[in-house]
Amino acid sequence: MPALPDPKINGLDWKPDSPLSKITTMGVGGTADALAVAHSEDALREILRLARAQGWRLFLLGGGTNTIFRCDRFAGVVLKLGPEFARVRLDENGLLCAGAAAPWSAAVNAAKRNGVGGMEFGAGIPGQVGGALAGNAGQKGWSLCDLLDSVRGYDYSGEPAALRQGEFAYGYRRSDLARFVLVEAKFLLKPSDPFVIETKMQEFLAIRREQPVGQRSSGCVFKNPEGDHAGRLIDAAGLKGLSRGGAEISVEHANFLINKRGASAQEVADLIDHVRKTVFERFGVQLELEVRLVE
Ligand SMILES: Cc1cc2nc3c(=O)[nH]c(=O)nc-3n(C[C@H](O)[C@H](O)[C@H](O)COP(=O)(O)OP(=O)(O)OC[C@H]3O[C@@H](n4cnc5c(N)ncnc54)[C@H](O)[C@@H]3O)c2cc1C
Repeated sequence: MPALPDPKINGLDWKPDSPLSKITTMGVGGTADALAVAHSEDALREILRLARAQGWRLFLLGGGTNTIFRCDRFAGVVLKLGPEFARVRLDENGLLCAGAAAPWSAAVNAAKRNGVGGMEFGAGIPGQVGGALAGNAGQKGWSLCDLLDSVRGYDYSGEPAALRQGEFAYGYRRSDLARFVLVEAKFLLKPSDPFVIETKMQEFLAIRREQPVGQRSSGCVFKNPEGDHAGRLIDAAGLKGLSRGGAEISVEHANFLINKRGASAQEVADLIDHVRKTVFERFGVQLELEVRLVE
């Protein structure tokens, strides 16, 4: 693997040999050739163009709450947006504008402060706005892309991109927006009483009590198959509590895999493979990954 040149771009932090376990909530993986943090749109465009010109492998990471690096070495650059992309405000048209690197929780709270509702289901879902749009995150039948007015960002060659609702496809835990590096999103919400918003947020937060909160995980590992729940199938296959080294299928919620005791990327990957194989053998259901598993 050739050494990556220091790109010397203004507004870009460049950290060679960066540990992957520190940048995801699952906390596994070896090192990336480099971690690049863009602090401005100029820097972002430059790194995208440079990566294209040099043929680097690039992985865009948000909050790292839905991504598992299953490799000892990521031969390429992990790109993140800096805090400059985390601003949230209500614009002159009453749309909630959120930077892609804003925690989704910050957008939910800003909506409450400004008396606009509809985003309450995001309460308790970790990660950033960009990551949530890329995976159309949500819960209980609600999902973030439904609330979008428009997004702005770049394609992977560094060309600007702007899309309005209706100009991209999305569905259950997937979205065409994952093809872009999003920098900002605008959401169309409805006027609502902050007290009503808070009450709804508390109802969604209560769901979290059924989950292994406070432990290292990436949330649900698998998507729910049509008409069923991945967690139910994993439980029915007798896999709850099964472990490989430090990785364990949560006893609280079978679709959560937790890094209990310093698990390795291999142990996590082995457990995921074992669950898929066992559920297929027992029930003939091919579980599809919800998490991004990066080789
Ligand atoms: C305890 C726990 C509970 C969870 N509960 C839920 C839940 O109820 N519902 C749910 O849907 N998810 C849940 N998740 C999963 C996760 O929180 C969400 O999917 C979240 O929206 C991912 O955001 P992120 O920024 O962490 O994404 P990351 O893991 O950083 O990235 C995920 C994908 O998004 C892409 N991406 C990141 N930023 C951008 C950007 N700026 N532009 C374009 N693409 C981008 C990445 O390239 C990657 O492909 C949970 C996770 C945990 C740990």
